[in-house]
Amino acid sequence: MNYGQMRMALYRVAPDLQVSSALLPGKLDGIYCLATNTVLIDRRMTYVRKRCALVHELVHWRHGDDTSDGCAGSKIERRCRRETAMLLINTAAYAVAERMYDGEPHQMASELNVTVQVIEDYRQILSEIIH
Ligand SMILES: [Zn+2]
Repeated sequence: MNYGQMRMALYRVAPDLQVSSALLPGKLDGIYCLATNTVLIDRRMTYVRKRCALVHELVHWRHGDDTSDGCAGSKIERRCRRETAMLLINTAAYAVAERMYDGEPHQMASELNVTVQVIEDYRQILSEIIH
């Protein structure tokens, strides 16, 4: 699903959840506010980055993590990034992209419609499984 399709699907499956675009301060891509059940996504980003930020904030939403002050604890954040990478990356597509681009993360990210950060988080998960 792309970002627009995800936004549309959310109207249907999670009508109580508010998702809005905003100008977020600093390097924030997205936040989830538990009190108002609202996800805010920075509107200046590319659609690929918005897609990753939305999935990331939806993982926080599902766990009831409030990130409206811009910083969840590092343990919560690590869990969220792992789950986000697992949701966004298809194992078979990842394997194909890795072979096709010789593991080069920017090209793989562009092929898989995710950010380099998500590729790195996924790699981290794989390395933990192997070691
Ligand atoms: Zn987070």
